[in-house]
Amino acid sequence: MKWAIIGGGVQGCTLFNYLIKMKKASAEDICVIDPHNDPMELWRQYTGRISMSYLRSPVSHHIDVFNASLEQFVAIHADDKESAFSQPYDRPSLSLFNQHTQKTLQETQIMKSWIKGRLISLKRLTDSWQLIVDMTQSQEMFKANNVVLAIGNSEKPNWPEWARTEQKAGKDISHVFDQSFKLENKKGPILICGGGLTGAHLALKCADASPGNVTLATRQALKVSDFETDLSWLSEEKDQIYQQIHCYEERRNLISSVKEKGSITVAFKKSLYQSVASGALSITHTNAFSELCAKAKTVILATGFQSNPLGTECASTFLKEKAPLSKCGYPILDRKLQWLPNLYCIGGLAELELGPISRNIAGAKRGSERIVKSL
Ligand SMILES: Cc1cc2nc3c(=O)[nH]c(=O)nc-3n(C[C@H](O)[C@H](O)[C@H](O)COP(=O)(O)OP(=O)(O)OC[C@H]3O[C@@H](n4cnc5c(N)ncnc54)[C@H](O)[C@@H]3O)c2cc1C
Repeated sequence: MKWAIIGGGVQGCTLFNYLIKMKKASAEDICVIDPHNDPMELWRQYTGRISMSYLRSPVSHHIDVFNASLEQFVAIHADDKESAFSQPYDRPSLSLFNQHTQKTLQETQIMKSWIKGRLISLKRLTDSWQLIVDMTQSQEMFKANNVVLAIGNSEKPNWPEWARTEQKAGKDISHVFDQSFKLENKKGPILICGGGLTGAHLALKCADASPGNVTLATRQALKVSDFETDLSWLSEEKDQIYQQIHCYEERRNLISSVKEKGSITVAFKKSLYQSVASGALSITHTNAFSELCAKAKTVILATGFQSNPLGTECASTFLKEKAPLSKCGYPILDRKLQWLPNLYCIGGLAELELGPISRNIAGAKRGSERIVKSL
């Protein structure tokens, strides 16, 4: 095998498309290893669960190579051009984005390369990498000349300490991104914890279904921003500024300072307050979540994902080689996004090299371009 891509989410699928479409490999040369049945399964599950109608990112952010690919797809396939986008920024509807994703992955024939399993060991041989993959019933060994780690942190929902305590005490409490999460048959009053876009989507969805029975609790006042990371970080100019920072701690600080984590768009703030005005929803800002829990029958966490350092995680789970890590526990990569010879990273793992946009869809395109151009 020439290439093994570990993780078939947004990042791994984008790189797969780049390798195929830029003619660096054929589907037979690549294996994509992921524990799910289909590509981008977590993306579909999570966005579907909160009934996300539109993406936060603009139409130029998608998993295909050609920048106008999604825009052209919409022009041909959208039944209603008006509702295809949310304004401003031409944010595409999730349905069209997913249809375009499916069409692109069919073109590149990703299922020919799909291996359902989880990487549990990665070891360097003289001129290749040895992978041991847990396929549920058995373990299999593969060899690849190049390996790309495209795993994020989205398998691990973030459970605050107080929530674990409530769960132990018998409260009906779950995280919206738990594998087993189901919204059906949840009894009110419902308390939703988390002030970001996930919490906002969920609050509106629940308030629609059960008006007057839903409270959204956030630590601070709702924070408004068009994007989690300002789109200017995609510009050449900002990229050059970032690349001139040679200290990884400084890079980490910059990433933390420019990310508007837990923020929502103006449109969502407006919708939330409309729902409050109509009596369907209550919003409260508090640090005393346990007290609020006492008043609710059901508690749903919308508190994002764990922020474990991804490089340290790889080293402690499957990576059997010593590889350079920054103080913050993330890989130190070269310009080609290589961690070790022929071992590449993309997405969250490439954050220190690619900058603040690395984890999102635009980052997947940027990371894929970097890798493919270096070949
Ligand atoms: C609700 C929601 C809405 C979002 N909206 C936007 C948006 O509008 N625009 C935008 O740009 N971004 C958005 N994002 C953010 C971002 O695009 C996603 O988080 C993105 O899916 C991250 O991609 P990924 O490939 O790193 O992770 P994932 O999609 O989680 O894929 C990683 C895959 O790797 C697999 N994996 C993990 N460990 C192993 C292993 N050892 N072996 C094999 N496979 C493994 C996982 O099971 C998973 O399938 C959104 C995120 C969420 C949750």
